[in-house]
Amino acid sequence: MPSFVELLAERTVLLADGATGTNYQNMGIEPGVAPEEWVVDAPEKVQELHRRFAAAGADLVLTCSFGGSSLRLADEALHGRAVEVNRRAAELAREAVGDNVLVAGSLGPTGHLTEPLGPLTHDLAVATYAEQARALTDGGVDLLVLETFFSLDEGLWALEGIQSASDLPLVVSYSFDQGTKTMMGLTPTQVVEAFAPLGIAAIGANCGKSLTDTDVIVDELVAAADGLPLWVKPNAGVPRMVGDSVIYDAGPDDLAEHVRGYVDRGARIVGGCCGSTPEHIAAIAGALGR
Ligand SMILES: [Zn+2]
Repeated sequence: MPSFVELLAERTVLLADGATGTNYQNMGIEPGVAPEEWVVDAPEKVQELHRRFAAAGADLVLTCSFGGSSLRLADEALHGRAVEVNRRAAELAREAVGDNVLVAGSLGPTGHLTEPLGPLTHDLAVATYAEQARALTDGGVDLLVLETFFSLDEGLWALEGIQSASDLPLVVSYSFDQGTKTMMGLTPTQVVEAFAPLGIAAIGANCGKSLTDTDVIVDELVAAADGLPLWVKPNAGVPRMVGDSVIYDAGPDDLAEHVRGYVDRGARIVGGCCGSTPEHIAAIAGALGR
């Protein structure tokens, strides 16, 4: 299997997977249970979702470790088990998809605000992300992805920790879910300017709010990125409650049409975030002519 960087150089576009959390909800995860708990308690379900995305045409799947930092797990059932959970999440994904699909280690925010607004210090963040990156690397991932970030300091500190612990390619992806800015007010251009000089393999956006907002965000990213590969993994539209369940308003064909547009404008790695099912990824594969 070629490496992520080789594959990116060879192909016009790489197809990533869809959501983890919302698909686990469809698969019956109990409310209040962290997805990472399934790495330990329901590994067959974690692997089933990875396999369904690979069968839908994904070139790349993300590990079930988004909330797997030691800080994020501190108040959860898995407190103290971050190294084991991340390593196992990587191994499960690799076993599920084999060597012909890339495995990306997912690292999400810690859930704490940075000082002086909150308790997260530089040294704590660096140590936390170094630990998580090392465990994912030891578990056999091909690349690492910082995803759904919103704060500049936390992202920069996470990158510092990751790069101190792993030589793997790193993707940096922010969530611009307040119109076209992040929760902390960052624009796509500010994120690109901060991270592009730091030796990353790709930059981009995931999650977010509506697809019409993502359309605008992608235009700004394309203009700012100056040739750095773009990663775009939007939600399947806007969620709304129907009875007891959450429905995302973009069906597979609707999401695929938007994502096809992002590829036409230069996105190099695309997929879906919250609400996107294996059927959404199969529709994107179709729209990309696969
Ligand atoms: Zn999302």
